[in-house]
Amino acid sequence: MREVPKSPRLGIIIPVYNEQEVLPALLERLNSLVLGLPLSILFVDDGSTDRTLAMLQEACKRDARLACLSFSRNFGQQAALVAGLRYVRGDVVAVLDADLQDPPELLNEFLAKWREGYDVVYGIRKNRKEHWALRAAYKSFYWLLSRVSSIHLPRDAGDFALIDRKVVDTLNTLSERNRFNRGLRGWVGFRQVGVPYDRPARQAGRTKYNLTRLCNVAIDGLLSFSAVPLRISGWLGAAAALLGFGFLVYILALFVLRQPLPDGWASTIVVILFLGGIQLIVLGIIGEYLGRISEEVKRRPHFVAQSRLGWLSESEDDA
Ligand code: UDP
Ligand code: MG
Repeated sequence: MREVPKSPRLGIIIPVYNEQEVLPALLERLNSLVLGLPLSILFVDDGSTDRTLAMLQEACKRDARLACLSFSRNFGQQAALVAGLRYVRGDVVAVLDADLQDPPELLNEFLAKWREGYDVVYGIRKNRKEHWALRAAYKSFYWLLSRVSSIHLPRDAGDFALIDRKVVDTLNTLSERNRFNRGLRGWVGFRQVGVPYDRPARQAGRTKYNLTRLCNVAIDGLLSFSAVPLRISGWLGAAAALLGFGFLVYILALFVLRQPLPDGWASTIVVILFLGGIQLIVLGIIGEYLGRISEEVKRRPHFVAQSRLGWLSESEDDA
């Protein structure tokens, strides 16, 4: 059992990007949420261009538990989470999607686990409602990630989680640019447990991820947690060398058996294309890592904030 603070406070982080369709339903659900402990909710507006910010402004005026940090442009969900973790208040912190795919009522179950002594309680998606092709892609990504990464990353766990304050503070000390928050959450250690849940479909509005953005998140995840792609170059080199050697043996055999030797043009082209392809792949992989290193070296902030609403407007520290 955990030594729970006398009256623990729960902070909830919700990244929002053009969510005007779902926001009323979300506010309604949060309003009727019964968790039995005081709440403070931090929206991170990731540069919305619709009425999201105006609606949040209204909501913050009505309800003192709400606050909003808004970015100067769209920096991406991972950056919004970085900001949320930095500014959220509470002894224990929850991360939710705005579209109600992470049912807030489930936090009761998460809190029970937290009281038992777990420091990180994350949701595991039991069945996904997405298209089967997307589901297959997710499945292979999580499979690949758990195979090649150097640490244990739970499969099918998203950003939906309840995190103890000490873990939040630890996450805030990590400064890397290419953030894959659910990976870092696993990386920091402490006592972690997954809670399976049925992930409903998005309640309103449209997903903010197209295939390219999803692939980018996947590549970030893979490259931040594994050096295996770099090692692939070695394997490819070995495979090419082996193939070349086989070809040499074949030609020597023809020579010894006094068979006519092949004319040579086709085989030369094949070898050149094969080796050229491998070299380009390997260069691409090295380039991916190099690009990330240069991002890290520049040390730009994860986000630029432009305004604060609700309880956040009272605090003076820099965004
Ligand atoms: N989101 C964000 N910035 C972005 C894209 C998404 O803050 O650039 C937020 C979005 O408002 C939502 C959450 O991240 O609260 C998850 O997005 P979405 O539901 O579109 O992703 P999906 O569930 O389809 O993977
Ligand atoms: Mg969603």
